[in-house]
Amino acid sequence: MKRRKFIQLSSLATLPLLLKSCDWIGAGSDFEVTVFTDIHTGHLLFESQHYPLEKTETTETLIVGGGIAGLSAASQLKGKDFMLCELSDDLGGTSSWHEYNGVTFAQGAHYDLAYPANYGDEVLGLLESLDIVEYQKWKDAWSFKDSQYIVTHRRKSQCFDHGVLREEVLPNGTLREDFYKIMSTYEGFMTMPTRLIDSAYHDLNRVSFIDFLKGKLNLSPEFIRGLDYHMLDDWGGTASQVSALAGVHYFACRPYYSQVVDLFSPPQGNGYFIEKMAAVHKEGLFTKHLVKSIVEKDDGFEVDVIDIERKAIKRINADKVIYAGQKHALKYILPDQYSLFEANQYAPWLVLNFIINDELPRPGYWQNEMLTEDQTFMGFVDSDMQQTTVAGKRVLTAYYCLPPESREDLRNVEANKQVIAEKTLEYLNQYFKRDIRSLVEHVYIKVMGHAMPIPGPGYLLNDKNAIRKHKNLTFAGVDNGRLPLLFEAVDSGLEAVKFRKG
Ligand SMILES: Cc1cc2nc3c(=O)[nH]c(=O)nc-3n(C[C@H](O)[C@H](O)[C@H](O)COP(=O)(O)OP(=O)(O)OC[C@H]3O[C@@H](n4cnc5c(N)ncnc54)[C@H](O)[C@@H]3O)c2cc1C
Repeated sequence: MKRRKFIQLSSLATLPLLLKSCDWIGAGSDFEVTVFTDIHTGHLLFESQHYPLEKTETTETLIVGGGIAGLSAASQLKGKDFMLCELSDDLGGTSSWHEYNGVTFAQGAHYDLAYPANYGDEVLGLLESLDIVEYQKWKDAWSFKDSQYIVTHRRKSQCFDHGVLREEVLPNGTLREDFYKIMSTYEGFMTMPTRLIDSAYHDLNRVSFIDFLKGKLNLSPEFIRGLDYHMLDDWGGTASQVSALAGVHYFACRPYYSQVVDLFSPPQGNGYFIEKMAAVHKEGLFTKHLVKSIVEKDDGFEVDVIDIERKAIKRINADKVIYAGQKHALKYILPDQYSLFEANQYAPWLVLNFIINDELPRPGYWQNEMLTEDQTFMGFVDSDMQQTTVAGKRVLTAYYCLPPESREDLRNVEANKQVIAEKTLEYLNQYFKRDIRSLVEHVYIKVMGHAMPIPGPGYLLNDKNAIRKHKNLTFAGVDNGRLPLLFEAVDSGLEAVKFRKG
């Protein structure tokens, strides 16, 4: 099939639709596309039945998962006996990053914002001790020490709505003004971590964001579309799916209505925080190690870990376990605790990094929010507004937030990688009003099946550590009743260490 024909065929197709079939393989592209996926984990679990049991080791604490939560737990165990196992080739989880010929780029979480003074002391204390933030008295807020990674305020974001550029995703007008008036009344009360939010606001966790707003405003379909975009972009679900607490938190967790809030985005995105936390340890962090099963034994746990590179099983006897991996896998790893998290809903995400030879107009905008016929497409981040690592190269990072029911179809990404890149290129071409194909050098696609827990009604303020079965096994991670945010992930790791007996 010729490329032109393919483009015509697919111009109306959304990503979920494209993923349904493998019939799109024929389209050829001039650039290479590489896929990163953990979709083969199931196959590995099956194959590992035949791996030799290599050796038994002991450790005081075993941490499952090398994302932000696992590493923040590890940061508390400096000088102690622990092992952290991460199944991927690299640390980071949904805050991972990659390098191509010296160009560094984020493959998931890409930023954080300055922290108000009333945010939780423990996380701020850790970030300060890692030399990441400092208190700024004149602002009464914490900001980032590596100020070269703060994105210029007026170039932070713009919205591209079906070909028309405007400042914000929410349409301009009195409805938006009234909406912001309501949201601003919550400013100062939507703290992080969310577990510190005053009980006076806990009722917001019982209703959906849209039902909460419908009682107060006459919402237009266009306005709801904008709200849905924002909620999908940060929480993985629409305004009807997430709780009012999550929705209000999004708009009121920082002094957006009275101040300029610093936005921090290093080239490697939130991988920056991972690097800082990992640097605390010389040893104890193991990548390509997949935790296969956890069984309570005597006073501790017998943990079987697949050493992926060596194709062997390591049996580890641990006194304590901190489980910071995604909780859906407990079904296989620790079945007696799966029911605690059974109700979790996860949005899958696809992230595409286009490495381009930069001839595009500048300066660009950092975040380019795009409203198109495909609600799963979230637009792209343009590295032009970040500190670049190689002159003449630019990275355009496009994001898709998929509905949970698309997860099964992610197995078709590898077969459709060229098509997915082509489809995304169409959006970029629309934005730049020219065909940028000849500038594209390489495309990376990161596939994340259980990427974002959707904070529906009842999900937040519900830490399962309080009702866990095994005293010495605690849970960390944003999918333990947290918003999918860096601050929450860090706090969950610190809490998991505190929760343990002894
Ligand atoms: C596309 C995307 C963009 C985002 N952008 C932002 C952002 O800009 N700012 C922000 O604050 N937040 C953002 N987030 C939210 C982000 O998820 C959190 O900030 C945080 O990184 C979550 O960390 P975590 O440790 O809880 O989970 P994860 O990052 O999911 O880490 C879990 C880790 O456990 C590993 N693991 C799982 N099972 C096993 C096992 N059996 N054995 C060994 N290892 C295992 C996984 O491989 C993974 O590395 C984004 C999320 C997504 C998906």
